[in-house]
Amino acid sequence: MRETAAGPRVLLKRLRELMAEPMEPQERLDRIVREIAQNMVAEVCSLYILRADSVLELYATEGLNPKAVHMAQLRLGQGLVGTIAASARTLNLSDAQKHPAFAYLPETGEEVYHSFLGVPVLRAGRTLGVLVVQNRTQRHYREDEEEALETVAMVIAEMIATGDLARLTRPGIELDLSRSVSLKGLSFNDGVGLGHVVLHEPRIVVTNLFNEDSDREMERLETALSSLRLSIDDMLSRRDVAFEGEHRAVLEAYRMFANDRGWVRRLEEAVRNGLTAEAAVEKVQSDMRARMLHMTDPYLRERMSDFDDLANRLLRQLMGRGPDALAEIVPKDAILVARSMGAAELLDYPRERLRGLVLEDGTPTSHIVIVARALGVPTVGQVKGAVSMSENGDAIIVDGEDGQVHLRPQADIEAAYAEKVRFRARRQQLYRTLRDKPAQTRDGVPIELLMNAGLAVDLPQLAQSGADGIGLFRTELQFMVAFTFPRVEAQERLYREVLDAAGDKPVTFRTIDIGGDKVLPYFKGAQHEENPALGWRAIRLTLDRPGLLRTQIRALLKAAGGRELKLMLPMVTEVDEIRQARAIIDREVRHLSRFAYLLPTSLKLGAMIEVPSLLWQLEELMKAVDFVSVGSNDLFQFVTATDRGNTRIAERFDPLGVPFLRLLRQIVRAGQAAHTPVTLCGELAGRPISAMALLGIGYRSISMAPASIGPVKAMVRELPLGRLAERMEEMLANHGARTDIRAELSAFAREHDIPL
Ligand code: PEP
Ligand code: MG
Repeated sequence: MRETAAGPRVLLKRLRELMAEPMEPQERLDRIVREIAQNMVAEVCSLYILRADSVLELYATEGLNPKAVHMAQLRLGQGLVGTIAASARTLNLSDAQKHPAFAYLPETGEEVYHSFLGVPVLRAGRTLGVLVVQNRTQRHYREDEEEALETVAMVIAEMIATGDLARLTRPGIELDLSRSVSLKGLSFNDGVGLGHVVLHEPRIVVTNLFNEDSDREMERLETALSSLRLSIDDMLSRRDVAFEGEHRAVLEAYRMFANDRGWVRRLEEAVRNGLTAEAAVEKVQSDMRARMLHMTDPYLRERMSDFDDLANRLLRQLMGRGPDALAEIVPKDAILVARSMGAAELLDYPRERLRGLVLEDGTPTSHIVIVARALGVPTVGQVKGAVSMSENGDAIIVDGEDGQVHLRPQADIEAAYAEKVRFRARRQQLYRTLRDKPAQTRDGVPIELLMNAGLAVDLPQLAQSGADGIGLFRTELQFMVAFTFPRVEAQERLYREVLDAAGDKPVTFRTIDIGGDKVLPYFKGAQHEENPALGWRAIRLTLDRPGLLRTQIRALLKAAGGRELKLMLPMVTEVDEIRQARAIIDREVRHLSRFAYLLPTSLKLGAMIEVPSLLWQLEELMKAVDFVSVGSNDLFQFVTATDRGNTRIAERFDPLGVPFLRLLRQIVRAGQAAHTPVTLCGELAGRPISAMALLGIGYRSISMAPASIGPVKAMVRELPLGRLAERMEEMLANHGARTDIRAELSAFAREHDIPL
């Protein structure tokens, strides 16, 4: 057995030169495999590439029969090469022919070679091909040789990803990398976007793969690792996580991984072999992801994904990719693809270039999704595998209507979607023509259609949608996208901006609804809770921390000086909480008037009905407030004991069922009896069919996402409300029988030509 002639650094240097030289792709591949064989003192070096039809085709070889190139083929899972590709694992064998998976391909003439080292060609955890070296003698390849071959494989993966090999494919046969795939997820925000992939998590490019100076590169790696560790220690020592809990457990795991010798050693080895620190992180991360894809144990998968997060953090440290750099890399029709993302991170991207968002995780009510909805970005979530299947710049379609994602779509799909986009545009045009028309039913009943908002970016929608006002301004969004508590001046500025934009239209500000799933990372007071949705949140939290509420009230009072101020309190459980909040408000009013500030001309205080216990205090409640607003998202979750963020049970119970509709009707009737205005601002208001049901049981004011105003108004204008009300009365009186109200409503709409 001969020793390795030159180390992997020399080989990488040669590869870099080869990749820089102008030459035909086939010649480049031939020279690359020759170079690898020489460097590793192997008699054979072959490269197999995975095609879209799941066949591995021999693309280049040194040592096997050259006539077999582009002829020799193995299916995924077939033979040693197919096994490596299917499992994404390296095989190191001293006598390959004894391996049970060995498949002999006569055209290659490989029977004389015994030892075999094959590594998967991976990119972001996805297998693109297999790289093999073989020797006649029965030798076992050393660990450093395995490592070296894996590193080379990574370089080849970059070459494939940059499209260099696409020219070598025969017509009609594509590489797996360019295969079109359709992925199914969940619709998080309506809309259709056609554009090109932008991977949110950094992925390195071929230009910065190789290092010039290993020692310097090692220093960069060590520096980045140290600051990563420091930042984790820092997070751990903060008061809000300085106790047991899930958050802490994740950070502890991060700390363990950041100090994990195995991980660090593999990073260092890759750098020593000639990669840049970034490329080293990506290489190790890619191996990790490949393993993750084949892992079924949910606990282990979760831990692996912690590693993945950690690697992303490290990459960001190394690449210094901040918001400023985004403007340069984001195309005009960007579709963001991410595993998960913070709400603030989304706002770093220029809105006018965003056509869509694809998330591997996320739930319909997670922060990122709320912000995406506020921005009007078509969003599909829970799309497993989206990140590893995508490459920056790939064509992609996001269908937020059906929860579908089409990567590298074929021409017919693209044409179908272009048609769908045109159709939607025509519908939008119709909604625009309705914009200035009144929302009045066919039998002449006026309906108030309000919109939900929460950020300054929402404001132009008020005019564009034709909404009658803002029925729910979620003030906590400003807190959620900030890095520290927004100061009173910043709060006042935003509220003033909102009121200015609204002009004569009414605006209802909801006091901050944090806690539960709306976590503020900088808020030190929160403790880990077993059931956060039932925990210390919203009005409960602000009554316990009156400073927070006082500041916000002061900002609101000042911003609304000289005009009307409408305020509402979230998650009220007992009427007495309203009295307590009112005391705080009164105190602020007195304070401001003492200093001669211009006060609001009138102040209306309302409560949200989200907690079922209010249903048994309706009479007192209606007297205690100027208006109520039903938060149907929370109310439904509490009434049916169904976590609103849990996708597994999201479709299990229908809010358009008898119990929930009866309950909503009870609220609106209590409002009528007490002459207290009632509105509803949950997601239920935004779908034409459920909005129709609400009108049918007596609601005359509803608040929804701005994009829903058009479709809901189109429904309202065709609705014979009197007839619907009678019909619903019957449906809800139908004791015992299981009435499919949704189906009956659809039938009613069809009968009366109501667009749903
Ligand atoms: C609701 O619960 O229905 C509501 C409108 O509030 P949020 O979705 O912000 O909790
Ligand atoms: Mg709520």
